[in-house]
Amino acid sequence: MMPFIDLGAQQQRLRPRLEAAMQAVLAHGCYVLGPEVEALERQLTRRVGVAHCITCASGTDALQIALRALDIGPGDEVIVPGFSFVATASSVALVGARPVYADIEPGTGLLDPKWGEAMITPRTRAIMPVSLFGQCADMAALAALADRYGLTVIEDAAQSFGATQHGRCSGALSRVACTSFFPSKPLGAYGDGGALFTDDAELASAIRLVARHGEARRYHHSRLGMNSRLDTLQAAVLLAKLESFDEEVVLRQAVAERYDRLLQQADIITPRVADGNTSVYAQYCTCVSHREAVQASLAEAGIPTAIHYPTPLYRQPALADPRCRLPACETLCERILSLPMHPYLEAAQQTRVVEALRQALQAAG
Ligand SMILES: *Cc1c(COP(=O)(O)O)cnc(C)c1O
Repeated sequence: MMPFIDLGAQQQRLRPRLEAAMQAVLAHGCYVLGPEVEALERQLTRRVGVAHCITCASGTDALQIALRALDIGPGDEVIVPGFSFVATASSVALVGARPVYADIEPGTGLLDPKWGEAMITPRTRAIMPVSLFGQCADMAALAALADRYGLTVIEDAAQSFGATQHGRCSGALSRVACTSFFPSKPLGAYGDGGALFTDDAELASAIRLVARHGEARRYHHSRLGMNSRLDTLQAAVLLAKLESFDEEVVLRQAVAERYDRLLQQADIITPRVADGNTSVYAQYCTCVSHREAVQASLAEAGIPTAIHYPTPLYRQPALADPRCRLPACETLCERILSLPMHPYLEAAQQTRVVEALRQALQAAG
């Protein structure tokens, strides 16, 4: 079976640099909030083009920290897309607020600003677009909406570190943005990790407080906080990987272009990148009918696939909103299929994937 995401190929390439970075941490011994964490925050700030970056323990924590720093909690509503990874909605529920689901644009799977507007109530405090599979929703339209109704936009940028919209980076397109360094994300650590980005100095201070026990000075806790920090070892890994990240984004886009070409030749649906966007292709997805049969024959041919995501968030038992019905979310959940995707995927492998998919679709009718 070929790998779905080949972290081994990347490691082989970066191995000396990764080992040196980890050795340095073992040598200085500052495992929590060591110098690599600060160095990484500085570099990420520059890379994204914002004034402040605060690292934390995961992307899920980053979302919760943003919500807490904005004092969003019980009685408040946050608009989220009905189609995403669970953390987009669970982070809202975990701070005691209510996730309100909006539908997506069928072509891209991104939050539809018109749906976003339709879901606004007097209780709405924020809107949380997800930069799904590596590209941003229409952030200008969402910012305009937020201005008009006095809301905050929180970008869930867990899948889009490195993406741009009209030349500006994902992470710099909203009041606050949250990303993830889970190993399989475009910029991945060797464990959990996350970060928040903002230009707002006051909000940045609140975020730092919330993520660090609410501690304003040693043993003085001015607000309720969490313990959410990025390990120094993970910061060292990320600094080592960041050196090759821009190159990897170019490779990802070349892989996606090859898929686009091969799939179009076979008359199979390709993902749409919206005007003004570049994507980092956290996933490369097509849409198929008879998905189960197609997946089974691909597996038989040695080709792994995945489903991001099989169920709308409002149908998850823990987050259910029984009255909710969002047609575009439901259609996408039934049809979406993710193909192997990583910067080191070779042209010959892609030809194999697409040929096997073509045959599987034909056999499935
Ligand atoms: C991965 C992901 C998260 C959560 O990130 P973790 O670091 O795994 O906690 C949140 N939202 C989306 C859209 C994600 O893909």
